[in-house]
Amino acid sequence: MQSDGSVKDALDLLAGKWKIDSRLYDLQTGKRDDVVDKPVNVGGVVFHIPMLSKDNLYVLWKCLWPDCHNCCERQGRLPLTKDDIRTISKKIGYTSESEFLKNETLVSTWQEQGTLDNIITTLTMISLKRRMDERPDQDGTPLHCRFLDDNGYCGIHPDKPGVCWLYPFASWLEADAKGQPVVHATFQFTGDCPGFYLDSSLDIMMPVLQEYSSKIYRYNMAVSRTTRENYGFVDFVDLRRS
Ligand code: SF4
Ligand code: SF4
Repeated sequence: MQSDGSVKDALDLLAGKWKIDSRLYDLQTGKRDDVVDKPVNVGGVVFHIPMLSKDNLYVLWKCLWPDCHNCCERQGRLPLTKDDIRTISKKIGYTSESEFLKNETLVSTWQEQGTLDNIITTLTMISLKRRMDERPDQDGTPLHCRFLDDNGYCGIHPDKPGVCWLYPFASWLEADAKGQPVVHATFQFTGDCPGFYLDSSLDIMMPVLQEYSSKIYRYNMAVSRTTRENYGFVDFVDLRRS
């Protein structure tokens, strides 16, 4: 889930272990000029599914765990919602959330820009340390998560951070024409996930979208509560309007 550094380097590393379709390699390294956004509303979440229009193929995804746990081996950061802070602090044996925050977390600030839009989101959140000796300057750089065991299991599952449930989706809240908040989601192409594939129909991925729509919806509500209670900040800049 690294977000800084080179997507190409990450993909080249991934290609040592997995076969990466050259069209998906080109997409993720920004070499395709025919990417079209195909929004689909599933369970109240608008998924922005990319389509390679010259090939008439959708970019779809399925998780390859337990054969793959690359996202946990190359974790970029683990931002925490307020709910995450409560559950994870208990899970790893803290009775005091303030002690947990002091010992186990750092503050992260980063920017995200959607692949298919011009909205830049700046987020500041409390993040779980991926290593006990993690330094602030390692924010956004890939690190092997301390909770990943040798068999690919997460030591704090099912209480892992909300972001771990969502990868490789990125999601955000945006107001619709009536000013009502709508949850959007898209793939984040960090170069770390071998689960992307191409298909002429979206149908095969609908069960995955159904499953993720409720997780993504809940996560965005949790982030909203977190920022409302000043445990984090989210700022949007819409380049289409500036
Ligand atoms: S990197 Fe992708 S395929 Fe591998 S475990 Fe993570 S989400 Fe699944
Ligand atoms: S907390 Fe668990 S799921 Fe999340 S990156 Fe670490 S090992 Fe993976």
